[in-house]
This record gives sequence, structure tokens and C-alpha cells, in this order.
Amino acid sequence: MIEFEHVCKRFGGHVVIDDLSLRIDDGEFFVLVGPSGSGKSTLLRTVNRLVHVDAGTVRVDGEDVATRDVETLRRGIGYAIQSVGLFPHRTVAENIATVPRLLHWSGDAIRARVAELIELLRLDEPGIADRYPHTLSGGQQQRVGVARALAARPRIVLMDEPFGALDPLTRESLQGSLKAIQRETGTTILFVTHDMDEAFGLGDRVGLMLDGKLIQVGAPLAFLRHPADERVRDFVGGTR
Ligand code: ATP
Ligand code: MG
Repeated sequence: MIEFEHVCKRFGGHVVIDDLSLRIDDGEFFVLVGPSGSGKSTLLRTVNRLVHVDAGTVRVDGEDVATRDVETLRRGIGYAIQSVGLFPHRTVAENIATVPRLLHWSGDAIRARVAELIELLRLDEPGIADRYPHTLSGGQQQRVGVARALAARPRIVLMDEPFGALDPLTRESLQGSLKAIQRETGTTILFVTHDMDEAFGLGDRVGLMLDGKLIQVGAPLAFLRHPADERVRDFVGGTR
């Protein structure tokens, strides 16, 4: 479970998260959607403490993240971002194995998990496991980033536009795989996108963010049938 309680964040004088409260249940696929600059990535990053809140509380499984040991906290939470951030001097397999290694999994368990993820994320080009990130396409790098985030089977995964660089077909197929993984494993996923179709396709619930506030939270259909106000209607209409 992830809880945001009256969370505020300012950068300089600019209010980026404005007294935001939200609860994401165990096993829920929650999608944050909103225009560029609305505060989505900042909110996501408060969960693994890459961003410190100015006021309010962020809790993971009931515990305030501010009081947790940050390394333990981050090992327990998968994180995938659009710019990927793979380790350039590590192979694909080594990148994927990052957290399992830190958790002292056995060599056999790591090899099996890497092979499984390479198949799940359709990275099955011969020899890809031993290649370095700069020899992969952008879309392949992105998939390795997702595999790395899922590798240790974390109960919570944060994903910040992880499919941004993919062509529509690959994107659709990976959305399907991710949804299937999430359903099977009961993983809690907090997913950021500015694509309404992606949000509606993936989310059990969707939260629309504007200027640091959630202006509507609900099931995808509710956004179409009962938009909270004009801004919601505009955003939903404008991106479909
Ligand atoms: P996008 O869809 O473009 O990724 P976003 O909704 O993820 O946008 P954020 O990255 O959360 O938006 O940024 C929200 C606002 O906070 C922006 O105005 C951004 O410039 C500002 N901001 C984010 N990080 C910092 C920082 N480290 N220092 C100063 N300002 C920041
Ligand atoms: Mg962002």
C-alpha cells in the first residue's frame, strides 16, 4: 500500500505538489496521468525518496518513508524511467540482475530469472544478454529497464513513462505483458504517462494531475462518463 497524506513539494517558489492525498491499495494498478510539468514524476519520486517532501507524509505499507533506511526502501521498490538509466559498463544480464545480486540471490536463481524476463519482455534476440546497453535500440534499452525494475519481484513498482520510446505495436504488446504480470503476481504498480489511452488501458484507477493537484481519481470509464469538470473533459478529449 502507498499512501500520500497532505503532501506538499516546492522547488524554489514554485508549488509542484499541492496538498495531495491519495491511497493506492495492495495489488492495484494506479496510473497517474496529466500534462507535462503537472508534477507526476515528482510525486512518484517521493515514494522511493528521490524527492523529499516539504510537508505531509508518504507511507509504504504503513511506514513513513522518511524514517526508513533508504537503501532497504529502494531495494524493495522497482523503478523504471523513460530515460532508462542502464549501467553502461554492465551487460544486459548484469543490468537486469542488479537488485537480485544486492539481495544475494544464488547464481542459478539469477540466471533463471534473467532468462525468464528476457522472454517476458520479448528481448529474445540471440546473444542479447551479453551485450552492452549502447549496442541496443532505444526500445530494447527501455525493455531492459523494465526487466531490471521487475527482476527481484518487488511488491511495489514505480514506472515513469517506461514505454515512451516504443513503436505502437511493441508498446501494446508490452502493456499486455505488464498487465498480465501485475495480475498474476498482485504487484502494486504506480505508473506515470501523459497518454490517456495508455492510462485507460492499464489502470484499475486513474488519477488526473494538474498543477500539483489530483483533479479526478477514479475508474477509467468514470472519466468519460462523469468528468469532474471542464479541465478533465478537455484533457481527456484533447489526447484521444
Ligand atoms: P512530464 O510529463 O514532462 O514528465 P511531470 O508531470 O512529470 O512532467 P515533474 O517532472 O514532476 O512533471 O515536474 C513538475 C514541475 O517541477 C516542473 O515545473 C519542473 O520544472 C519542476 N521540477 C521538477 N524537478 C525539479 C528540480 N529538481 N528542481 C527544480 N524544479 C523541478
Ligand atoms: Mg515526468
